[in-house]
Amino acid sequence: MRSFEFENALNKIPRLDLAAVKPTPLYRLAKLEKEWGYPQIYIKRDDLTGLGQGGNKVRCLEYLLADAEKQGADMIIAGGGSQSNLCSLTAAACALTGFPCELVMNDAEPKRTEGNLLLDRLCGAQVRHIGPVSFQERNACMEELAEKYRLSGRRPYVIRNGASTGMGALGYAKAAAEIAGQCRGMDIGRLSLFCPGGNGGVAAGLIYGNAMMGSPLDIIVISVEDEKDVLEEHIRGIISEEEQIVGMKPAPGEDYEYIISDSCTGGGWGIDSRESLEMVRSFASTQGLFVEKVYTSKVLVGMKDMLTGGAIKGPACFLHTGGLASLFAQF
Ligand SMILES: *Cc1c(COP(=O)(O)O)cnc(C)c1O
Repeated sequence: MRSFEFENALNKIPRLDLAAVKPTPLYRLAKLEKEWGYPQIYIKRDDLTGLGQGGNKVRCLEYLLADAEKQGADMIIAGGGSQSNLCSLTAAACALTGFPCELVMNDAEPKRTEGNLLLDRLCGAQVRHIGPVSFQERNACMEELAEKYRLSGRRPYVIRNGASTGMGALGYAKAAAEIAGQCRGMDIGRLSLFCPGGNGGVAAGLIYGNAMMGSPLDIIVISVEDEKDVLEEHIRGIISEEEQIVGMKPAPGEDYEYIISDSCTGGGWGIDSRESLEMVRSFASTQGLFVEKVYTSKVLVGMKDMLTGGAIKGPACFLHTGGLASLFAQF
């Protein structure tokens, strides 16, 4: 069977076990079902992956740091803003695996060491603030730093594009298999899975993994930043990298199936809308669960629109990708 072939191919790719909790819990949100008037709502708790503050990047780092080991790297370089979840999870993964970790941040050093930045420092990462430059300039700075280390005899491994590369996305190709397995075990039926689309790594991983298993899931991507066409191009690019690494693609005549919504981006990356801000508050005050402004609240807003508007039928699931630490610096 093709899904067996896929899981075999995936299992041949080196991966470190960084997530202490796998599978992450998948369960029903009975109170939310009543509030939204929708019969079957689930949550997949990837905020509980069990390293550092938890979250989706742990699954991506399992493949990226294994790749770094395979390449004989002796240090890791990653980049983002002070509140980057990728940076703090890279710092935690490096603490666990023993890689020295350097983080390049494209903002000014904040007065208070809070949220993710606090976690970076507690994990022992070296942090460089290069001021408020574009992400392209930050990337260039990371490559320059890596080159400097190479010339001095070190072997740095650079985590590019916020871990949203073909290699990083394999974490979510594997997660698609995990979720499909949980649905079978719990007799859930065909699940509509709502995930965020930032750089597109989570989405590309889920879409690829789902297709390779014969599409047991419906994947709905809620863009948190870009217009549909831009996000789709990113996702397609990452999927073609995954195809190369794993060595499997859809059969001729088949294509990837998914839905992308760009109606909940608010003002763009990190800029909340009235609805997403309200969701941060209402999800906490009615469910006792925390979502933040950048990713997870926007996914819930998009999911609520589609469920209550009748665009989706059948069991639906919110993929909670984490980001708790950033919340402490958002208000
Ligand atoms: C990085 C991140 C995402 C999504 O990222 P992609 O770049 O689209 O893979 C979603 N949620 C949280 C909390 C994140 O940190």
